[in-house]
Amino acid sequence: MKIEHEHEQHETLQIDVFYPDHAPRAESALFRKTKHHLIAVLDTPCWVCGSKDQREVHHFHAEWADANGIDFDKMRAMHPAFDWSTYKEPSDFIDSEYNMLVLCAKHHRGKNHGIHMLPYPIFVMQRNQRADFVFSPDEVKA
Ligand SMILES: [Zn+2]
Repeated sequence: MKIEHEHEQHETLQIDVFYPDHAPRAESALFRKTKHHLIAVLDTPCWVCGSKDQREVHHFHAEWADANGIDFDKMRAMHPAFDWSTYKEPSDFIDSEYNMLVLCAKHHRGKNHGIHMLPYPIFVMQRNQRADFVFSPDEVKA
């Protein structure tokens, strides 16, 4: 596909990483509270596009599935702005508002757009893109 003043980069990623063993995921009460406050109370739009459609919350600094592999002394050093007086277990940080990014479904899990689908340097370009820049083939106007 050719777009004037743009060039297409087509890559296939193969990912091979380990996750620490963990129990089946269950939403914590803090996660439900955080999601409700960010979306229903504060009405936070998608961090990328500003949409208020199909909003979800993304665990930004630490994913729940990684909790058993995280050194929280390192997290404490890297995130002094978090209220560590509230910390008793990993989910206190992981499911907090501090660790959340509100994203629409497209920018959370969507093909060629989602933070779970793209390397971060490619993903973050969408937040800063000009209105006349076409980010991916699904945005080409006929
Ligand atoms: Zn979005």
